[in-house]
Amino acid sequence: MVQAENVHKAFGSVEVLKGIDLTVKAGEVCCVLGPSGSGKSTFLRCVNHLEKINAGWIRVDGDLIGYREYGGKLHEMREKEVAAQRRAIGMVFQRFNLFPHMTALDNVVEAPVRVLRERRATVRERAAALLDRVGLGDKLGSYPGQLSGGQQQRVAIARALAMQPKLMLFDEPTSALDPELVGEVLDVMKDLARDGMTMIVVTHEIGFAREVGDSLVFMDDGVVVESGEPREMIANPRHERTRAFLDKVL
Ligand code: ADP
Ligand code: MG
Repeated sequence: MVQAENVHKAFGSVEVLKGIDLTVKAGEVCCVLGPSGSGKSTFLRCVNHLEKINAGWIRVDGDLIGYREYGGKLHEMREKEVAAQRRAIGMVFQRFNLFPHMTALDNVVEAPVRVLRERRATVRERAAALLDRVGLGDKLGSYPGQLSGGQQQRVAIARALAMQPKLMLFDEPTSALDPELVGEVLDVMKDLARDGMTMIVVTHEIGFAREVGDSLVFMDDGVVVESGEPREMIANPRHERTRAFLDKVL
């Protein structure tokens, strides 16, 4: 579902991604771990072309992201085409960014109606079902300000799912939450994984990586230092940098 090869990204003269290779099969959960500043968020942003890459390529479900190949070269797509690709890729951030003046239901309904031009009545039904699925069936009419951080993040997940994506990207979805609210969000993600959603999850929740991840990638300083089967890698990291990082977070 996701195939990244030799992805390079620089901001000015600072090289942030130095040749990332990563593969995620359909229905699998890939967890990404690494110290702050190692390029995790930048990589996720490259996967939906919120950042242009300087070299390499990324395919999602077979399609090159952000570029078209002809005449033996890659040509950047127009913003409109990129937007169309992005619709199939859901993204959940550390900060939920819900519309504060809209109810939970309307937050979930908004994008499919505006972007996909779906009928509001149809989307409302799907949105209500999604909110029920994330455990918020009784909060359809609540405003973000009336919800806890964990509830808001679950609305954000439902909002991403309303677009019926084939891939979900999570960027430290529980990092901004009080510890007692982390579990309810991870449970929703677990449920999604069980349901067969392909996911890339940047997280420091080692328990989640171990239990739910099909693969684990450790990034440091813009490279993939090590990747493998999560339980094996957590128990027996092969690289000193991975070991040092795991010692800190475990
Ligand atoms: P992580 O998510 O692993 O903490 P990031 O991908 O956010 O790391 O950042 C990697 C590096 O890229 C950092 O040094 C950060 O300062 C830099 N960076 C990220 N975005 C930008 C940007 N828009 N302009 C300049 N530098 C950036
Ligand atoms: Mg980050």
